[in-house]
Amino acid sequence: MVKRGEALYRGKAKTIYRTDDEKTFIIEFHDDLTAFDGKKKSSLEGKGYYNAKISATLFKLLESHGIPTHFKGMLSETEMIVDAVKIIPIEVIVRNIATGSITRRYPIEEGRRLVPPVVVLDYKSDEYGDPMINEDIAVAMGLAKMEELELMRRLALEINQILVKFLDERGLALPDFKLEFGRSKDDGKIILADEISPDTCRFWDRETGESLDKDVFRFDKGDLESVYREIARRIEL
Ligand code: 5GP
Repeated sequence: MVKRGEALYRGKAKTIYRTDDEKTFIIEFHDDLTAFDGKKKSSLEGKGYYNAKISATLFKLLESHGIPTHFKGMLSETEMIVDAVKIIPIEVIVRNIATGSITRRYPIEEGRRLVPPVVVLDYKSDEYGDPMINEDIAVAMGLAKMEELELMRRLALEINQILVKFLDERGLALPDFKLEFGRSKDDGKIILADEISPDTCRFWDRETGESLDKDVFRFDKGDLESVYREIARRIEL
């Protein structure tokens, strides 16, 4: 049985703990939510449970398709056992349908299908406001090597294909999502880390186009609990 040690990182949505094994961390998922760089805050009972469950299911799905992830198992309903990694501070965002920031920053209309999918890199930094970067800037900043960035892009596109098919069978479209990768503390290999949940993905009902993700909180679109519950239900189908 893994034992929880000191907290390495405490965020609104998650806390990462060390364990008695240096190659293993525990991620605890919380009920708190923030949006717009922490300017909007709330809490939703059960969100930690739903996000842990949804992430676990999607990590297992990806592992079954040969994608290396940090997922090892669950310690409890809200605590995930993961491989210890050092997170690379780059958000890898994959977009299949134009919505959100891409429609505000560029003349691309809402709802346009992006074929082939668009991969965007953002530098994870509160100080700089998560600016978009490219591979050359990431290399110049010493965040990763070019080969590692190429691997992250290839994995992100493979993950996209797996998720789109899985979600499509459950009546869901995947307009976009954000991934984070880390270097394993064991062998330095790049693996998928963080979470895959309605906090980090946009999910739309394929029939109605209704948002079933954190946009419901961002833009006060309806009952948030029923949205997280509905995604957990559909993903388990
Ligand atoms: P956008 O750039 O349109 O705001 O976000 C694109 C996608 O990436 C959305 O699915 C959004 O949830 C996710 N995303 C982008 N940045 C962040 C972030 O800093 N935190 C989280 N949780 N998700 C993000």
